Amino acid sequence: MNQQTTTRRLSAGATDFIATANLDVLLKQPQPDTVQVRDILAKSLAKEALTAAETAILIHADDPDSVAAVFAAANRLKREVYGNRIVLFAPLYIGNHCVNNCAYCGFKVTNTKAIRRTLSAEEVEQQVTFLENQGHKRLILVFGEHPDYTPEFIAENVRRIYDIKSGPGEIRRVNINAAPLDGAGYRTVKSSGIGTYQIFQETYHLPTYQEMHPVGTLKGDYLYRLDGLSRAFEADCDDMGVGALFGLYDWRYEVLALVTHSLFLQARYGVGPHTISFPRLCPASGVDLTTPYSVADRDFMRLIAILRLAVPYTGLILTARESAAIRREAMEYGVSQIDAGSRIEIGGYTEVGDMQVMEREQFSLGDIRSLDAVIRELLEDGYVPSFCTACYRLGRTGKQFMEFAIPGFIGSYCTPNAMTTLAEYLADYASPSTRAAGMQRLRAELDAMPDNQRKTEVAERLRRILECGEHDLYV
Ligand code: SAM
Ligand code: SF4
Repeated sequence: MNQQTTTRRLSAGATDFIATANLDVLLKQPQPDTVQVRDILAKSLAKEALTAAETAILIHADDPDSVAAVFAAANRLKREVYGNRIVLFAPLYIGNHCVNNCAYCGFKVTNTKAIRRTLSAEEVEQQVTFLENQGHKRLILVFGEHPDYTPEFIAENVRRIYDIKSGPGEIRRVNINAAPLDGAGYRTVKSSGIGTYQIFQETYHLPTYQEMHPVGTLKGDYLYRLDGLSRAFEADCDDMGVGALFGLYDWRYEVLALVTHSLFLQARYGVGPHTISFPRLCPASGVDLTTPYSVADRDFMRLIAILRLAVPYTGLILTARESAAIRREAMEYGVSQIDAGSRIEIGGYTEVGDMQVMEREQFSLGDIRSLDAVIRELLEDGYVPSFCTACYRLGRTGKQFMEFAIPGFIGSYCTPNAMTTLAEYLADYASPSTRAAGMQRLRAELDAMPDNQRKTEVAERLRRILECGEHDLYV
């Protein structure tokens, strides 16, 4: 149990389940033999979640043959569970006031160079209108931690965003990345119709956590943050995202901790996290942080492949912090959601063009291509870019989602919904070359579907969207 105590209310029986999981011991195991590795890969390919001990074996298996086998298995598992869909979203930073002092972040309270701002209702409308006019349907709202950013304020923004319509454009799913809340706070935010609520632990290694988040700040309370998802589940929020900021501590430890967190939630609440995020530390205004733990590109790919294999049904998110080349490779090994056309300066979608202004953003981005350019590349690489929001709008979240994430579901629901949302994008927003690539992909997807009732339905829906201008035809 860690030394820190909290005066804020925790979930029933809150514990530091990371400390008791003995991750350090798992990380000191000897090199595994090929049979062990093969058996674990077979378990994962049977779509069973791995234990932390099994995940540790994949981490230790760093000889070239084992690494190649891990990449191949991750690629296969990803195709089997997710097909060739990639879900697209955009971040919208609402406010960067923050009372915390996280050593790595440009929004930290001691960064006097940061230009502080919270978007007004009119400014939110301008940003969202811009995003809708690009073709976005899914947003993640990002907030610093500040007394102004109450659950009511977050909920108010979410409701307002759902009401903003620009031509055929609308936002159909709003996710949140903000500070952990108490039970009442989660209920308030949930009542506005949010999708996933993300809370990144940053590092699960307590001494590093304490070094990065000064004692006495709100975020300095390790257990309160670690318990953040448990409180959410107890408040009936079953669509949660976890994450770690890679580069603060040993990536191997953080991977085991993310898996341990997922398994803990699964065991206690019957549902694991909906998504896992694994940002790598980026340069930021007012931040001069060097650690011995920066993650090399090859290790980064390995950790993505290992996470894919450890939690087969959990969405993996990779943001535009990373370069286009890294994102492209990471999608082969497990990433299922990416952002596109992102700007993270407050008001950045309409105010700063392609320039990245360090003082106005949390960190700098590696991929600032337009949504259209990202979609075109995805299409050329054989993916179906998806703006689907059907599951959460039909209540298929949490345990329900797990029941649906079974063989057959993708072919019957996810692929059709990806195709119809892609068709909407092609009809309403795509450049001529993206439209041509998209039409070709839609034809190929349709040809690949078995000849049954679903195929007839999908063909008819595509016709209604592309020829009659209909919208939002999901199953
Ligand atoms: N303020 C809230 C919090 O800390 O949980 C929510 C959002 S914070 C703006 C979003 C995430 O950005 C953090 O959880 C952290 O993982 C990530 N982040 C912060 N500084 C970063 C940096 N320099 N490079 C990459 N990611 C960073
Ligand atoms: Fe504030 Fe979040 Fe940045 Fe920490 S990571 S300084 S809490 S915005």
